[in-house]
Amino acid sequence: MTREFVDSLSVRWTEKYDEKISKFWKKLPTPLKNISVFCAVLLLGISISGNWINLWVHLCLQINSSVRNIKTINNNERSFEYVELKGFWSFFVAANAVSFVIYLSIGGFLHWYYYVRQRDRAEEWKCQPNKFLTPDLEKHEIIFGSVTLFLNGTLSSLLACYIYNGGPCSVYYDIQEYGWPWFILQFVVIFVYQDYLTYWMHRIFHTPWLYKHFHKMHHKYKYPTAFSVTAIHPVESIFIQSVLATPLFLFPVHWLSFYIVVMYTYYHGIIDHSGINFKSYWWQPWQPDAIFHDNHHQYFHVNFGFNICIWDTIHGTCRQKERVYNEEIFYGKGKSLKEVTEEEIEVDMDERNSENPLAYRNDKLEYQLDRSEIEKIRH
Ligand SMILES: [Zn+2]
Ligand SMILES: [Zn+2]
Repeated sequence: MTREFVDSLSVRWTEKYDEKISKFWKKLPTPLKNISVFCAVLLLGISISGNWINLWVHLCLQINSSVRNIKTINNNERSFEYVELKGFWSFFVAANAVSFVIYLSIGGFLHWYYYVRQRDRAEEWKCQPNKFLTPDLEKHEIIFGSVTLFLNGTLSSLLACYIYNGGPCSVYYDIQEYGWPWFILQFVVIFVYQDYLTYWMHRIFHTPWLYKHFHKMHHKYKYPTAFSVTAIHPVESIFIQSVLATPLFLFPVHWLSFYIVVMYTYYHGIIDHSGINFKSYWWQPWQPDAIFHDNHHQYFHVNFGFNICIWDTIHGTCRQKERVYNEEIFYGKGKSLKEVTEEEIEVDMDERNSENPLAYRNDKLEYQLDRSEIEKIRH
């Protein structure tokens, strides 16, 4: 597949047909527009992880209790060595084909919605309003996004096929089996388990060797877009996907609660990489605003968490006003203003001034420092 092919399918077509799409979009009622964008993000999230095929398999097993009974018998009788992967290629082709089509079409639509439609008034919505990825980097993230997409699709089809064939796991289908209290509680358990592990995996990938060899690729996108979320190194992607699937084998999880948490996570993965000043809602006190991860891309080794902000607070890796961060300063704590050179301060100030106040609460730049404050700290 050539670069031009992928690029023109996913990004250029929306720019080319901007006028036509805008005309159609204007005719839609606002609630329908909002629902469409919400569904598009959700659909993209569930496809880039290849998880739509797992959802499908569990839904089939939920509805078709006779297949499930065979699965239960198999679960009891089989050990891991005898699990078959019957029909794997059908799962593989379906997972990858659907994921790829959705990635290019819905991803393209979201690119149009966020970036083409309102590009000329970026100061109203963009976290870093004067900075956009170069066309080369846009291509780069779609190429790497596609490779990761293929890997995610392959891993997900393996898992889906394994579960469909009755492979041993700790998933259950009847809520009564473990009762309602556990059904409700497991949302929290799965969410906290996955998010805390992700915090540490991310932080470990930011240590010098792992960063330079793997994670740096994702940090090519200093001004991330909705496509950046999958543009990560294949090794990192396989590792993270595998760790995130562990609850399916460790403790009793109802398939619905597991995949609702997964959908939430991917939904926010896209929102947090969109580069847009999204704020979390009142009912999500644990969820940082999109600027939190945007800061991670702008300042590199800081703000390692994703969906729960307290991990960074607890471990002291949250961005602080009087610290300086850049790609050369590792370990998440930055450097004090006293330790850095004048040149580093100049670069850091330029970065701070390029941020959008609208991305913060109260529309005020939270990390703004003026010269006199800096001088006072340094001398
Ligand atoms: Zn990172
Ligand atoms: Zn990122």
